[in-house]
Amino acid sequence: MTTTSDRPLRHAVIGAGMAGILAAIKLKQRGEEFVVYEKAAKIGGTWRENRYPGLTCDVPAHAYTYSFEPYPDWQAYYATGAEVQGYFEHVVAKYGLAADIRFNSEVTSLDWDSAASQWTVTLADGTAEVFDVVIAASGVLHHPRLPEIEGLDTFAGRAFHTARWDEHAPIDGARVGLVGSGSTGIQIVTAINKKVERLVHFQRSPQWVMPVPQFPYSEEDREAFRRDPALIDAIRFADEYIGNIRRFTDAITDVDGPQMLAIEQICRDHFETSIRDPELKEKLRPNYRAACKRLIYSWCYFEEVQHPAVFVETGRIARVEPHGVRMAGGAFHELDTLILATGFHADRFIRPAGVTGEGEMTLDRFWATRPTAHYAVTLPHFPNLFMLNGPTGPVGNFSLIDIAERQWDYIDQLIDLLRKGEAAAVMPTVEAHEAYEERRVAAAKTTIFGSGCTSWYLDATGVPSSWPWSYDAFADAMAKPVLSEYAIRARVG
Ligand code: NAP
Repeated sequence: MTTTSDRPLRHAVIGAGMAGILAAIKLKQRGEEFVVYEKAAKIGGTWRENRYPGLTCDVPAHAYTYSFEPYPDWQAYYATGAEVQGYFEHVVAKYGLAADIRFNSEVTSLDWDSAASQWTVTLADGTAEVFDVVIAASGVLHHPRLPEIEGLDTFAGRAFHTARWDEHAPIDGARVGLVGSGSTGIQIVTAINKKVERLVHFQRSPQWVMPVPQFPYSEEDREAFRRDPALIDAIRFADEYIGNIRRFTDAITDVDGPQMLAIEQICRDHFETSIRDPELKEKLRPNYRAACKRLIYSWCYFEEVQHPAVFVETGRIARVEPHGVRMAGGAFHELDTLILATGFHADRFIRPAGVTGEGEMTLDRFWATRPTAHYAVTLPHFPNLFMLNGPTGPVGNFSLIDIAERQWDYIDQLIDLLRKGEAAAVMPTVEAHEAYEERRVAAAKTTIFGSGCTSWYLDATGVPSSWPWSYDAFADAMAKPVLSEYAIRARVG
C-alpha cells in the first residue's frame, strides 16, 4: 500500500452508551478527531433508557467497569441501574467527553463514497458531515418489542413497556399486570410485589434461576477500595469470577460437558428446594435446559414470587380489555396498570438508519437472512465501518464492557492501517466472511442456546445469533485481526 495520509482521520461514533463512551475515551487518548452522535439528550444507552423498579446489573459491580477505570463507590456487590448510569456519567465527566458528544442528534443514514473513501453521516435534522471512519456503538436491546395482544390499545389504565417506564402509573396499592418473565420481568416481580395490592405475572415461559449472593458494601469498604485499588482488583479479577466466565462459555459450547451439567444441577437444586407450594412449583418448572434462555441470576426471585400478593398466570392471554386482561379460558384479571416486559427487537443494531456501502449494497440487503459481522465487528461491502457489540458477539451473564474493550483492540489495529496511510479503506473480503459465518452458524446450532427454547438469542431462522466458541477463542480472535481476511485498499487517485 502506498498511500499517505495528509490529514488526520475523522471518526464518527454512533451512540453515547457504554461502548460509544469507550470508543470516545480511546480516540481522545490518542488525540484523534472524532464526534459522538447521540440521539437522546443524555449519555448512558440502555442504562439511561431502563429505569424500571428492581433494575440491577447482574454482573458483579466491580466487574462491570472499564478495565482502566475501576470504581470504589459501588453500594453493593450487584449495582442498581441508577448506580451504573451514575458510573458512566462519572466517567464522561472525568474524561471531559461532554463537549465531544452531540446530543439530540439521531443518525438517519450512512453513505459510503468509494472515490473519496469516506462516509457521509446524515442526521435527522438533515445536516450531514463526512468522516473516514464510523464506529457503530448503537446498542443491541434498544427497540422495545410490544406484544401483539388484541385490545392492548383499549386498556383504560396505564400500559407501557419496561424501557419506557411510566412514573405516574399506579403501583402502590394497585392491581398490576406484568407480561413477560425475562430478566426484566423477574427483577420487577422482586421489586414491586410488596407494594402492590395484587400482581398478576403473565408468564409464557418459566425460568431457570442461578442463585447468587448479594450484599452491601459499607462506607468502610468503599474507603478501603479508595485507599487500595488492589482490593477492587481482587474482586474483579478473582479466580472464582474469571473462572465462572470461562466455565460458563465452556458450558455453552459443550452442552453435555461437566460444566453444563454442574450449572444444570445448581439450578435444579435451587428450584427443587425453594418453592413450597406444589401448584406454584409446577407453574415455575421449565421444560427446557438451563442457560438455553439467558440464565436468570438472582438472590431473591424464588422467595419473592411466593409473596401472597403475586399470582403467576400461565394461561394464554386472549385479549386486553379496558379494565384488565381476559384469559383464553375465560378468567378475567381486573387491573389498574399493565407492564409489558416483553423484550426488544434484537436484530436492529444501527437500523433503522439506512446504511449504503460499496456497490450500493445496503445493510438491509446484506442482513436479509440475519444480521452478521466478521468476528462480530466488521462487514464486507461496508469499508471503515466498525461495530461494537454488533451482531453475533458473545452473549451470556458476563460484562459486555470487557467484550467491547477487546473488540476495540481489534478495531484499533485495523484503523491503524488507515492512520499510517497504509490503506484508505479496509473491510473483510466476502469470501473470508462467508467462510467464517458458515463455521459460526454450524457451531452456534450446537450451543446450549440452540437446545430447544425460545429466546432473543435466536435469529429469524432459529439460529443462535452469538459467538459459539469459548471465551478464550474470542480473546484470541480479538487480539489480532487476520489481515489476509481483509481487503485493504489504497486511496483512489
Ligand atoms: P426477554 O428476555 O426477551 O423476555 C421477554 C419476555 O416476554 C419473555 O418472558 C417472553 O416469553 C415474554 N413475551 C413476549 N411476548 C409475549 C406475549 N405476546 N405474550 C406473553 N409473553 C410474551 O426481554 P427482557 O426481560 O427485557 O430481557 C432482555 C435482555 O436484557 C436479557 O436477556 C438481558 O440480556 C438484558 N437484561 C439484563 C439485565 C441485567 O441484569 N443485566 C436486566 C434486564 C435485562 P417467552 O420466553 O415465552 O418468549
